Amino acid sequence: MPELPEVETIRRQLEKQIVGQRINSVDVFFSGRINFSAKKFREHLRDKKIISVSRRAKLLLINLSDGFTLVIHLKMSGQLLLVGSDRLPDKHTHLVFNLSGDYRLFFTDVRKFGFVRIFKTSELEQKVFHPAQFGVEPQSADFTLNHLTDCLLRHSRSAIKPLLLSQKCVVGVGNIYSDETLWRARIRPSRLAGQLKPDEIKRLYSAIKQILTKSIELGGTSVDQYRDTTGARGGYARLLKVYGRTGLSCRRCQHPIKKIRLGGRGTHWCPGCQR
Ligand SMILES: [Zn+2]
Repeated sequence: MPELPEVETIRRQLEKQIVGQRINSVDVFFSGRINFSAKKFREHLRDKKIISVSRRAKLLLINLSDGFTLVIHLKMSGQLLLVGSDRLPDKHTHLVFNLSGDYRLFFTDVRKFGFVRIFKTSELEQKVFHPAQFGVEPQSADFTLNHLTDCLLRHSRSAIKPLLLSQKCVVGVGNIYSDETLWRARIRPSRLAGQLKPDEIKRLYSAIKQILTKSIELGGTSVDQYRDTTGARGGYARLLKVYGRTGLSCRRCQHPIKKIRLGGRGTHWCPGCQR
């Protein structure tokens, strides 16, 4: 599933290429994951100008000139592909946005968990991003060591990995980056949040910031269907230390990497150096 670095990579690409363009028309091939009828969805977006592309957590926000925002969640396998006007949709293409600059933006999704919804921009905080479910952005000034420490204490009975996945303390970290940050911080994923020592929290805090920044720089991680808007793979997969490396030796201590289930999710860790 695309996590923060992957969605941010897409956001940056779209920002360069579609801001200022108009949506001439929209073709709806699958209406099961939009929040209007196909007809209303098409009418709503026709001739709207794209004024900016932003992101909150793992959701992409395409802001329109009329005070509305397209909220896009790629979930497991969603892709946004920016293609020339001659490119034809395939059977997994749900939506095609025909843009004024001779581009088409395809929303494709093999597994159909992703969605594209229209909301009033002014109502996003209230209707989509409830503060109880969305923690702070890891690259914002609000994400401080104090914030992380306090949040871990508030959820002291939760194991650290599921707590990271919950998005309550910090958003954008999913299954890949939670495994990677805990390895870097040398913390066993099943440790209780309330039992982490100050130096461990400090290492975790730095690991989250450093790993997400590096992955954005490399265009994210492609281990599944994730592709950027040009269809290219992200470059971070070669830097993965535990995710997808079950049975291979740890790059830090040579112990074989183990995979367990924790909170219902496959979790990779090194029993040799994550305590
Ligand atoms: Zn190790």
